Parts: sequence; C-alpha cells; structure tokens
Amino acid sequence: MATVAFIGLGNMGGPMAGNLLAAGHAVTVFDLSSEACAHMRDLGARVAESAQQAAAGVDYVISMLPAGKHVAATYLGEDGLLAALDSTTTVLDCSTIDAETARSVGAAAAEAGIGFMDSPVSGGVAAAAAGTLAFMCGGDAATFDKAKLILADMGRNIFHAGPAGAGQVAKACNNMLLAIHMIGSCEALEMGARNGLDPAVLSQIMLASSGRNWSLEVYNPYPGVMDSAPASNGYKPGFMVDLMVKDLGLAQQIAQGSHVDNALGQLASQLYERHQQAGNGQRDFSSILEALQS
Ligand code: NAD
Repeated sequence: MATVAFIGLGNMGGPMAGNLLAAGHAVTVFDLSSEACAHMRDLGARVAESAQQAAAGVDYVISMLPAGKHVAATYLGEDGLLAALDSTTTVLDCSTIDAETARSVGAAAAEAGIGFMDSPVSGGVAAAAAGTLAFMCGGDAATFDKAKLILADMGRNIFHAGPAGAGQVAKACNNMLLAIHMIGSCEALEMGARNGLDPAVLSQIMLASSGRNWSLEVYNPYPGVMDSAPASNGYKPGFMVDLMVKDLGLAQQIAQGSHVDNALGQLASQLYERHQQAGNGQRDFSSILEALQS
C-alpha cells in the first residue's frame, strides 16, 4: 500500500480520494475547504494544514484542482511543492488545465528530478465515485509505470498519451469531439422530429447506420428516448455546460497555439458559450438540444 497526499477534494477529488482510502492506501488530504477535509477525515484520511505538510515524504502526490493557475501555484515557485519534494515522490495532476501549464510543471519537475504526469480524467462525478474513470497521462514511461499502480484504484482505463502535456491535449481533443457529435446528434434528432419521425425510432436507425456515435448510444439528448440519460431527467448533470465551456476554451487554446483550423470546434465553443449565457451553465451539456428548439 502506498502513502498518498491528495490535494483538492471537490466533486471529483473527494470521491477519488475516497476510493484510495477504500483500497487501503494511507491518504493525507488538503483542501482550502475545511468542510471537504472534515468529510475525508470521517472516511479515515489524515488532514494536513497545507499542501506542503500533506506531501512531505509520500510516495504519490495527486491533485484535482479547478484550473491551471491553481496547479501552477501549488507546484511552481519557491513555495511550490516541487521545491520541497524528494525524487522518490511521483506527482500526478488529474485536473483539467491548459496544456502549456502542464508542460511547464512537467519541465520544472524534470529539472528537480521528480516524476510528473498530467493525468486528466474522462468521466464525471459518478465515474469518480464508482472508480471507473479513464486517465489520459502525459509524462515519461518510467513515471507512467508508477502512475498506473495508483490510478488503477480510481479508474478503469489508463492511457499513456505521450510526453508532459499530452494528457491535457488528449482530453481537449476528446471533449471537442464530444461537443461536436452531441450538437450534431441534437440537430439530426430535431430535424427528424420536426418532420414527423419518432426520435426513439430515428435513434435506432442512426445507431444501426453510419451516424452512430457515443452521444446517441449512451447519452441520448432527446427527452424520453433513454431513461438513464440526463435528457430524461430534466437535464440534471451529468456533465455541466460550465465544464464543457471550460474544456472547449482549453481546446481552442491548443488549436490556436498549433495553427489548426478547427472550424467545428470553434463553432461548438460559441454555441456552448451562448447556451451557458442563457442560464444553462449548471445543466447537463446535452441540454444544448433546447438551444436548437428555441
Ligand atoms: P470542484 O470545484 O468541485 O473542486 C475543486 C476543489 O479544489 C475545491 O474543493 C477547492 O476548495 C479546492 N481547491 C482550490 N484551490 C486549491 C488549492 N490551492 N489548494 C487546495 N485545494 C484547492 O471541482 P471538480 O468538479 O472536483 O473538478 C476538479 C477538476 O476536475 C477540474 O479541473 C475539472 O475541470 C475536472 N473535471 C471535472 C469533472 C466533473 O464532472 N466535475 C469531470 C472531469 C474533469
């Protein structure tokens, strides 16, 4: 069993740290929220007073923070963890952040002789609780071998995408494609419905044809077609529009930085931003169907 410092105990980090405790690891936690820490104490974690205190002498530091600026502040600079950790510690940042920050933390870790992987996840709060997340990792092969040992207690699929930053790029590519096929599926279903087709029948037809995709198969956006989907439950998330807008913004940064003409990704980003501004930020991202109906 490993010693782990877990930093960031929100909607995702809380259940992830809970799974590490359930697997028998010795987990020390830190979050700015004392309430989040108290909850983890009840589950058997030690609570530290700072990230530095949590990370002292552990096998793994795992972070699950809101954005790049929180990750940079946690790891970089004189007060950052990389200045204090020793080379036996492996650092896994599971937050979804910009690839540039992930690359700079990776470079600073390499300079300090510390193994680092950006390890963002696919799968929401339910997958975090069930321990079925997919991890997309960026870093060197030796660090990936160590990372797998602990990530396996929080997830089902663990991919080595490439060097530092590659995990964030993989996540941005995936979520940009998800947004595009969600909007495409909504457009097709709405067009069929307005022309007299039953969306459930049309879904079956497209699932057996070349329009088949994940949004239709497991997350049908049309209310009443799939009982388990957010669409049939008032678009309760699931995966919030706010988070999709964040991820599409990160994808735009990557596309612009690498001069990719991602016209559809750009349009998807604009459509989701408009949907967010219309007051749908906290609803499931499949509610974009309603934007096509208004
Ligand atoms: P959240 O806002 O629920 O949790 C973030 C936690 O980090 C909070 O508890 C906050 O107090 C803590 N925090 C912030 N700054 C800190 C600091 N400097 N030190 C210690 N703790 C600090 O967010 P979340 O939904 O758990 O998401 C976390 C990350 O996972 C984000 O990058 C998000 O994009 C990504 N993600 C979320 C989902 C989802 O469905 N919620 C899915 C996939 C990926």
